[in-house]
Amino acid sequence: MKYFLLSMLPLFLLASHAGAQDPPSTKSPTAADLAEEWYFPTWLAAAPHAPVFQVRDTENKYGRYAGQTKTITVKDLIKFHGHFCGGLVESAAALRVAFDRLFVDDVTDRTDLRIASNNSACGGDVASYLTGGRARFNSHLIDSALTESEFFVQQVSTGKTIHVKLNPSVYPKEVKTQMKKIESGTFESKDIDLFQELQWAYAKRMVNAPLGDSFIVTEVNDYA
Ligand SMILES: [Zn+2]
Repeated sequence: MKYFLLSMLPLFLLASHAGAQDPPSTKSPTAADLAEEWYFPTWLAAAPHAPVFQVRDTENKYGRYAGQTKTITVKDLIKFHGHFCGGLVESAAALRVAFDRLFVDDVTDRTDLRIASNNSACGGDVASYLTGGRARFNSHLIDSALTESEFFVQQVSTGKTIHVKLNPSVYPKEVKTQMKKIESGTFESKDIDLFQELQWAYAKRMVNAPLGDSFIVTEVNDYA
């Protein structure tokens, strides 16, 4: 009986999708979503292409789909990840571009996704937060062959899979040079400040241009 009930769960979820009487979803971030904080600069809140997500979840562990969506901004991602970095913005932007191909209604269904990312702290955190994929349930695959901010995102119900990666021409060489310098162990504290400056400048450029310009996105048919 228990297995029967579990096997019926996906049908139940589909059948109970938000009905016509549900209150409308919030489509734009509120002022509170974007209020400046010491860890969240004003220029990022005001950037015209800073990625914003509407996500749909269930009301409890057995369903049903919540009638309303939630707004996730880069500010929420920073709170989860711990800091604002180039990798965070880059990965959020990559997934914004991927979700635009995957969901026609602009709402990301976090009950219906799995994702493959590399093992970076930044990209991995963004992948998990935005898709609901979790390594412990095999819905977040760590694949070290993938580069930073490169993802395969799959809609479980349809199998539709999107591959997204950074257009290499966008990445500033000076960020990588500075990263290598710090990771070599021979650096001064001002090198860390410079690294952050370079990363922020890179992130700023990205969110001030259409995000599609920075990524290569394709639908793949044979991803296993
Ligand atoms: Zn980071």
